[in-house]
Amino acid sequence: MTFDAVIIGAGPAGSAVASALASSGARVAVVAGRTAAGVEGLSERSLVQLKYLGIDPAELGGIGAARRVGTWGADARPVKGVEWLVDRSVLAEAVRSRAELLGARYFPGTVTRSARNAATWRHRLVDGTELEAPVVVEARGRRGPEVAGPRLVALGQRRRFAAAQAAAGTAIRPFSGGWAWWAWRRDELWVQVVTLPRSGPIANRVRQAGAELPDLADALSQTSPAGALLARPAHARLGVAEDRPGWWVTGDKAMALDPMSGQGVYEALVGAKVVATAVTGVAAGDDEALARQFVAERYRATFGRGVRAATGLYAENGSIGDFWRTVGRAYGKLCDVQDETAARVERRPVLDGGRIRAEDVVVTPRHPRGVWQVAGVSVAKLMGCLHRDARLSIESAALELDRPPGDIVQALRWLQEAGVVAG
Ligand SMILES: Cc1cc2nc3c(=O)[nH]c(=O)nc-3n(C[C@H](O)[C@H](O)[C@H](O)COP(=O)(O)OP(=O)(O)OC[C@H]3O[C@@H](n4cnc5c(N)ncnc54)[C@H](O)[C@@H]3O)c2cc1C
Repeated sequence: MTFDAVIIGAGPAGSAVASALASSGARVAVVAGRTAAGVEGLSERSLVQLKYLGIDPAELGGIGAARRVGTWGADARPVKGVEWLVDRSVLAEAVRSRAELLGARYFPGTVTRSARNAATWRHRLVDGTELEAPVVVEARGRRGPEVAGPRLVALGQRRRFAAAQAAAGTAIRPFSGGWAWWAWRRDELWVQVVTLPRSGPIANRVRQAGAELPDLADALSQTSPAGALLARPAHARLGVAEDRPGWWVTGDKAMALDPMSGQGVYEALVGAKVVATAVTGVAAGDDEALARQFVAERYRATFGRGVRAATGLYAENGSIGDFWRTVGRAYGKLCDVQDETAARVERRPVLDGGRIRAEDVVVTPRHPRGVWQVAGVSVAKLMGCLHRDARLSIESAALELDRPPGDIVQALRWLQEAGVVAG
């Protein structure tokens, strides 16, 4: 069977790409493997992205907002917030139904072989079905060659309360061997412990967490196991870029944050949108190498930010145990060595009205992906004007760049705040 694009993997990322491509008129096939069991807490930003896809959060199990409690850091600072509890399989199903509604065709099973044949990719599924398309989007989750953070593992277990709980909620707390997140709703408890997979049997780590955290012990004592203890890799990762024509990578396969961020689904959905834009642009004549560079730079920058945030979050608990110092140090080593030299202008791919093209951007240590425009003014051009004549008036710059003076003022303010030109 022939399509315009084959998507491998039907987690949130694969189905979001499928929705975007199908809604732009492409014939899309999605190969859907099994969704691993588990419960996740969705951030407000993830909900916005789901709504953008046309998914009402009320479809996601009807739980709604759950209040988060907990402590963090050596001073046991209170952690507060709200997250939406969702079953991983319910989320995958909701995004998948949306893509099907938009015309994507689903094929249950897994891809066992992919081979290039002239200008198309041919995929063989486990049941022998063959799918062919010039474009492949691989969204198989945390798999393949990677630049990786410390090899963390998450142990998760579904448990059952004897009686339903009055309100849904979640808790997060550090202990000496890792951190625990647990979520309750109705008569169900999901316990997740993130730890290093070494020094003794990892299954004991849930017991260890319970022994150190009285409120977790309390929750465990009120429940009995309703499923096996499942292990998932849980480190931040950046997939090694694929360089095969027509082959794109998205979701956790391309880049995954440490689960402590709570933004995994958000990043999967936003990354999927970027990849869909790149694929559509290339089909309409954009330069493929430039589009790939755009996508890769975006993932690299998000990974860099995520790793820096994780370094800080783990370091904060350094006094609690060796786990925290080891993981904080390992993430610290991964942080990009930032170029602290003066801001510079580079030719980079930018997104312009849904298309990707090369433009001069201003790159600074705080803006490693580069900034192209502020208030419609090219900051690289404005920087060039000011380097030529530091006393250039707003009116002259407005004339030279053909923009209203108010926009020049905004762009100038950005250059000053970024430390590119003197205030
Ligand atoms: C322990 C842990 C806890 C997390 N908690 C949260 C949280 O609370 N909130 C949050 O926002 N994010 C959380 N995340 C992150 C979130 O789960 C992921 O970022 C998100 O699921 C990524 O979506 P994806 O579509 O890229 O990959 P996945 O959801 O992993 O989907 C990949 C799909 O590809 C399929 N597949 C694999 N191989 C093949 C093949 N050969 N053929 C066909 N299909 C295939 C799989 O079956 C699977 O369905 C957590 C992650 C971890 C590890």
